[in-house]
Amino acid sequence: MNINDYQKQAAKTDTFKDAIPVTDLATPGFVEKALGLSGEAGEVADKIKKIIRDKSGKLTEEDRQEIVLELGDVLWYVANVSRVLDVSLEYVANKNLEKLAARQKNNTLHGSGDHR
Ligand SMILES: [Mg+2]
Repeated sequence: MNINDYQKQAAKTDTFKDAIPVTDLATPGFVEKALGLSGEAGEVADKIKKIIRDKSGKLTEEDRQEIVLELGDVLWYVANVSRVLDVSLEYVANKNLEKLAARQKNNTLHGSGDHR
């Protein structure tokens, strides 16, 4: 599947009526998605934490599928936050790969700071 096609499909299940490209980030439809992205990332982390805490880190197929569902939720929010910011998911993906390739070239994959 093309990731921009995914973004278009994901937009169909966005229930906020004002979730259209905005420049005012205080718009409820944007705030809801920004908070949702953080929440779903937390759900991924929590699933992994419980596998480590309760199962000595041993992953079952059921665990894997539960993590997959949460990663999908993260992806949905990434797609919709991007859409409301008026950028395609492909653009976000390409910018990320460009950033990482530059860090690799500059031998700065390790370290901190967004612009290294
Ligand atoms: Mg979830």
